[in-house]
Amino acid sequence: MSRQIIIGGNWKHSMTEADTVEFCEEMKPLIEQKPTSVKLIIAAPDLCIHILERYFGKDDRIEISVQHFDIGVSPTTGARTGATTLNQIEKSESNIQWVIIGHSEVREYSHIDNRYINQQLLELQESKSGIRPILCIGEDFDIREQGTEVLKDYLKKQLTEGLADISAEFMKKIVIAYEPIWAIGKKTDGSAKESATSDQAQESCNIIRSIIIELYNQELADGITIQYGGSMKAKNAEELLSQTDIDGGLIGGASKEAQSLIDITKAAS
Ligand code: PEP
Repeated sequence: MSRQIIIGGNWKHSMTEADTVEFCEEMKPLIEQKPTSVKLIIAAPDLCIHILERYFGKDDRIEISVQHFDIGVSPTTGARTGATTLNQIEKSESNIQWVIIGHSEVREYSHIDNRYINQQLLELQESKSGIRPILCIGEDFDIREQGTEVLKDYLKKQLTEGLADISAEFMKKIVIAYEPIWAIGKKTDGSAKESATSDQAQESCNIIRSIIIELYNQELADGITIQYGGSMKAKNAEELLSQTDIDGGLIGGASKEAQSLIDITKAAS
């Protein structure tokens, strides 16, 4: 079955409004090179979304994502300073079509767990807004070191708890990003981490697909897009993306430069 190939850029907190203008100016002529078979999403910081909207909001070659929203806050609940709600995202004047759910950095720094992530997904399922989640899962190095069975159990727990009461219909809208924490971003000394090997990434994405078969069914699992994330860049993208169960990438550092992001979309086609 042919699956939708999706490349997502995750800018985290690292782009300012001025950086976003610079990126968009660079991207304007380059976007022509994006293969039509590859969907491109950019998850920008909330403050930068309006700039992406200004440049690409009416251009379906780039879809806009936020990186998180807070659960349990509605226009009628008590005050919650600092929160961003699904209601605000839905009513935004920007055409926000995606949200990252459960990125490992948000799990760690905002202390959110599988239950919280499940509540986010349930809010999205109920909202019928059409906003699609990119659900991030993945293990730290301790788990990886304990071997495949422990890894399987860990990924299964993340999926089973995160997807509790999520219908098959809504599941078809979810993209899963497999992001081993040991391969994401930088080490504490500032040097870049190593990507998972293509074999390691394939094995985990295959495990994820087989868990989706258990939780849902074969047809649904065959159709779902599973991204790999963790130090993917133009030079290793082709090998990672040529694996049978890897249908795209979620890219942090290498997504901040327009040329590198476009090169990754080319490697995906
Ligand atoms: C990420 O933050 O989702 C990510 C994959 O980051 P990087 O590509 O920088 O490892």
